Amino acid sequence: MLEDKLDKVEQRIAKAAARAGRTRDSVTLIAVTKKFAPNVIREAFLLGVRDFGENYVQEFQSKDDHVADLLEARFHLIGHLQANKSRPAAELFDVIQTVDTPKLAQRLNGLLVKGDGEIRLKEVMLEVKLSGEESKEGVAPADLPALIDAVRACSHIQLTGLMTMPPFSNKPEDSRPYFQQLAELARANGIAGLSMGMSHDLEVAIEEGATHIRVGTALFGARPKPKTTEPELT
Ligand SMILES: *Cc1c(COP(=O)(O)O)cnc(C)c1O
Repeated sequence: MLEDKLDKVEQRIAKAAARAGRTRDSVTLIAVTKKFAPNVIREAFLLGVRDFGENYVQEFQSKDDHVADLLEARFHLIGHLQANKSRPAAELFDVIQTVDTPKLAQRLNGLLVKGDGEIRLKEVMLEVKLSGEESKEGVAPADLPALIDAVRACSHIQLTGLMTMPPFSNKPEDSRPYFQQLAELARANGIAGLSMGMSHDLEVAIEEGATHIRVGTALFGARPKPKTTEPELT
């Protein structure tokens, strides 16, 4: 079941990459496992997936023990991070994709400077807010250059990419201008990584240069909803 879904996603990635004249290797598939039990991570790992995305520090704290033996797995934090959760986040995740303030970057750098053995963090990406939506986290494009300067001044942080989430739409083409804008910001600032594209718009993202796509629903089905009396759809 997961195997079939993974096959389908892999075929979509391969087709989009071929259309864009890119290799399959140039795109990292991040399996988004938020709200799912740790055995879902294990099942995907056994099928060859190595990169996983989680949105909540606390939620992944409760899963981490169950997947600690998957030594080749890389965990990406793709949800908003509050500065006061910097330490647990840096202990749990290889990549934090949602750095959006100098303060957060400086906190993470401080933990890396001390370099105790508990710290797992290796790379950060900056979350950019490209739509005017009030609720979205991320740095405004106008403030991005100053944030990049601040992060580059953090000697122990490796800045590898920009990340964004366009406003939700069912039409994949609606995401294209946002992906183009993120690619342009990355190019202008000499940043190689682009984390963009989800289940419904991953092809458009790959066409526009995504190096990391974050895919949940297309792999695992609808996420379990807490506090519901309805049967789950998964
Ligand atoms: C949940 C989530 C995803 C995965 O979305 P799907 O539509 O289920 O593929 C990707 N990125 C972020 C930031 C998310 O929160």
